[in-house]
Amino acid sequence: MRTDTVATMQDRPEFDVPAFDAPVFDVIVIGSLNLDLVASAPRLPGPGETVTGSTFAEMPGGKGLNQAVAAARAGASVALIGAVGNDDAGTLLRHVVLDEGIDDRWITVLAGVPTGRALITVDERAENVIVVIPGANAWDAGASETLPTARVVLAQLEVPLPRVERAFAAGKAIGAITILNPAPAAALPTALLGDCDLIIPNEHEAALLGGTDVLTNSGNTTVVVTRGGAGTTIIDGTGTRHLHAFAVHPVDTTGAGDAFCGALAARLAAGDDLATGVGFAMAAGALATTVAGAVPSLPHRVAIEQLLSEQE
Ligand code: ADP
Repeated sequence: MRTDTVATMQDRPEFDVPAFDAPVFDVIVIGSLNLDLVASAPRLPGPGETVTGSTFAEMPGGKGLNQAVAAARAGASVALIGAVGNDDAGTLLRHVVLDEGIDDRWITVLAGVPTGRALITVDERAENVIVVIPGANAWDAGASETLPTARVVLAQLEVPLPRVERAFAAGKAIGAITILNPAPAAALPTALLGDCDLIIPNEHEAALLGGTDVLTNSGNTTVVVTRGGAGTTIIDGTGTRHLHAFAVHPVDTTGAGDAFCGALAARLAAGDDLATGVGFAMAAGALATTVAGAVPSLPHRVAIEQLLSEQE
């Protein structure tokens, strides 16, 4: 029963702000859940061409699900706020969520709408082509949505922007830390930027969004740019700091950004300062490159702490 409200919403006339109810989670993730259908082939087919592939796998995916798993494995209590269809793919993804100890009560099951899917073809050089069918991820719960109380609200841009805007406005109103991973890059309304405590783009997304000046200009927002094997840059009111990446042997960089965002959310919820949290998140991102796939590569807290103690 979610009846005992533990936080009072402030009036925000420009938004219909959803109510936050008990229980309190370390991290809530507003985001997508996809079933990834991954085919490997010697080379990518051209238009109208058929090539014979070598392997096929169905894997859980979607940035929302990946980052929720990353936060949970990093030690946080997590609820995932999202939507799936009333189909086999949706059932499979909800099992993944539950197996990770993530609360699934805010995942809406929609009748007559397919679960989100990504059709991925990978060639021998690890080049890929991807078609994403958002399906249930495109559904907007609307202003009547009720969210659980959280210390950190984490979102990406694979779900409708109004959903993210309302969740962040509500998060700010209860004093939560709001973190946006602007992926895939899309124009960000000024009001949403003002509600972001932290924005985490990779280099490509930072450029598409007009550069870090645009993102920090909006107010008290801190920007953390992830640069793959080149590390991370933190830009806040006090200046710019660069942190070097951990030395690992990467085999597949898929999931590094999701590992980073989920792990950082978990550590900020636990009370770490930003620099400490970013160090932990960089270790998580580095470890994610050492294992193939997204969800299988997301590291647990013990492994992250071990890498930190080895390389500090
Ligand atoms: P995305 O997957 O969103 O493009 P990045 O590739 O920038 O994100 O990775 C996120 C973080 O993971 C980086 O800031 C870095 O700390 C870590 N990381 C990624 N690739 C490597 C690598 N090759 N070696 C060490 N750390 C890495």
